[in-house]
Amino acid sequence: MTDPVTYELTEGGIAVVTIANPPVNALGQAVRAGLDAAFERFASDSAAEIAVIVGAGKLFIGGADISEFGKPLKDPWLPAVINRIEACPKPVVAAIHGAALGGGLEVALGCHYRLALPGTTLGLPEVKLGVIPGAGGTQRAPRLMGLAAALDMIPAGGTLTADKALEAGLIDVLGEGDDPRAAGLAYARDLLDQGAKPRPTGEMPMPEAEPDAIEAARATWTKKARGEVAPLASIDAVEASTRLDIMDGLDEERRIFREMMETPQRAGLIHAFFNDRKVAKLPEIEGVIPRDVGTIGVIGGGTMGAGIATAALLRGLPVTLIERDDAAAAKARETIAGNLAAAVKRGKLTEARRDAALDALTAATGYDALSDADLVIEAVFEDMDVKKAVFAELDRVAKPGAVLATNTSYLDIDAIAASISRPGDVIGLHFFSPAHVMKLLEVVVAEKTAPEVTATAFALAKRLGKTAVRAGVCDGFIGNRILSHYRAAADGMVLAGASPFQIDRAMKDFGFAMGPYEVADLAGLDIGYMTRQRKAADRHPRDVVPTWADALFNKGRLGQKTGRGYYVYEGRKGTPDPEVEELVAEARTEAGVTPREFSDAEIQRRYMAAMVNEAARVVDEGIAARPLDVDVTLLYGYGFPRWRGGPMHWADTVGLPKLVSDIESYAAEDDHFWQVAPLLRRLAKDNQTFSSLNG
Ligand code: NAD
Repeated sequence: MTDPVTYELTEGGIAVVTIANPPVNALGQAVRAGLDAAFERFASDSAAEIAVIVGAGKLFIGGADISEFGKPLKDPWLPAVINRIEACPKPVVAAIHGAALGGGLEVALGCHYRLALPGTTLGLPEVKLGVIPGAGGTQRAPRLMGLAAALDMIPAGGTLTADKALEAGLIDVLGEGDDPRAAGLAYARDLLDQGAKPRPTGEMPMPEAEPDAIEAARATWTKKARGEVAPLASIDAVEASTRLDIMDGLDEERRIFREMMETPQRAGLIHAFFNDRKVAKLPEIEGVIPRDVGTIGVIGGGTMGAGIATAALLRGLPVTLIERDDAAAAKARETIAGNLAAAVKRGKLTEARRDAALDALTAATGYDALSDADLVIEAVFEDMDVKKAVFAELDRVAKPGAVLATNTSYLDIDAIAASISRPGDVIGLHFFSPAHVMKLLEVVVAEKTAPEVTATAFALAKRLGKTAVRAGVCDGFIGNRILSHYRAAADGMVLAGASPFQIDRAMKDFGFAMGPYEVADLAGLDIGYMTRQRKAADRHPRDVVPTWADALFNKGRLGQKTGRGYYVYEGRKGTPDPEVEELVAEARTEAGVTPREFSDAEIQRRYMAAMVNEAARVVDEGIAARPLDVDVTLLYGYGFPRWRGGPMHWADTVGLPKLVSDIESYAAEDDHFWQVAPLLRRLAKDNQTFSSLNG
């Protein structure tokens, strides 16, 4: 193995310390030891007058080596290595390119001078992994950029571009060109010429203490973090920088860092981080070459079609969208133009790129317009006959090898595929609303879907900036099927005595972005109503039917879009509608139920037990390839708190035997709804975890 850190004395007394630890120069033990040795040598190398640290490859340093998290820390620790760099009696320069993140930026902050090439990203994203910067970031960054800027960046786990970092004072100069070594050497020479001395960041004055700014940051993050601890802990560490000298500040930072390392939240966030990488690794598409996708066709320009078209245009893919008539096509174009304008307003898109995106959109009528599309996504009404008619037309016009996708939420994709002459090209691409915003894409692989079609779907997802999860065909696939079940548990609790508003509150306290009834209002109560109608024939006599929801639908209260559903809306802000309680009370009377009280904790336990139980069935049936696919689905499509890792990870932390005993106790009341899923029972019996199935 080659040395990950090399020391080289160049002409003119400049030592170059190069970190080469592909792919991201992570600060694993060997790199830390290499840096430590390099700076020990630099300090005693009388021929070296100044040192430059550079990263080999695409970036400076990507951060800590996450595979070491949760294990005993190995010497030398990063804070000590950085302290050694900072204490060097001769100047040290960081020549940064690509990215300096987390520990990588902390190394740079420990240097005496910092240069970054244009396009570099600098930041401290540690809170996103449930920890805080633990190698001086919270002490040195505020000394360089001031308290306010540090409070903007660190609790958010944010990043800055090189030019913003220069403005903020985090770096000293913006280099030229794309060679960090050359830029670093030139800068070092200038510094030598100027007689520059070591300039330890830690010896710079403490940032001014501004109690109001600290309190304001705490208030903001108490609200934003919804139970997540690391952002607030990072504020405590930054606050310490305003009153402690560097060594005491570093100790305090370390203390908080270690505390964070031990939290279950850290484990949950790391689990989620690794799942993001594992979810696209599927044996069935390994080594399979995706088909080329240069143009996209979309059928239907309603809520979903317009969103899907926007998502593609935002990523530079030309789109041909067809609608039923000219008026609908024009309306779809208008919606898409509005979406793009909003992206410009949020700074996500330049006006020039917006214009190019609009030029790349064709809104038409008639299927022949789709004859050139490499991949077509159907997003028409959720009705099997309509979908089959659309696919018959596609079969007629689509070019050979075109991928034919449906955005259906529930319908049987095998049946759609079987109705045309090329079932191998058919796949489900289940986007979430709003499709140009939501990260999740369920890739629903039907019985006859060709592996290269699946590979094409995953490649497309990547191009669209989405997280794709493989799902099998069943009613609702992974996400909506599990949602139906936990929503049924919620309805069961409402009928038994809990208020929908209490359930929403309790689940938000658990960490969900929204409660189930807020979600229902957002999606539209017509959607739930239609689903109930569709499933009415298969209903079991003991299924809970939320007749109050039917009543809301019948009164035209469809949620946010009509200004009233479970909540009464002023804009997007809803307040509980007391009439809903009356409708629920009527439903209870009709069902002969005497309402009882539920604690928030019981609500959370039952809701989660229902979620995990159905998820276990989904995994057992192969609808989800692994438990991690469920976790990713719920995180990116259903507002599950990321710091809890996902429902399967959460279940592992609670312990599967505990979940089994909870479900058995609920079954004493209702043994129709509450039946322990076979996989859950098996794993609990063997003292196993869902994670053990992730591979
Ligand atoms: P929508 O009613 O908003 O839009 C459907 C559009 O399809 C309409 O504009 C209609 O004019 C058009 N259309 C119907 N038949 C057509 C045809 N033959 N040719 C061209 N255009 C036609 O519906 P939506 O909410 O966008 O849902 C579309 C699909 O996406 C459904 O299958 C739905 O289940 C699924 N879906 C919806 C959501 C959601 O949250 N709304 C989420 C995921 C998936």
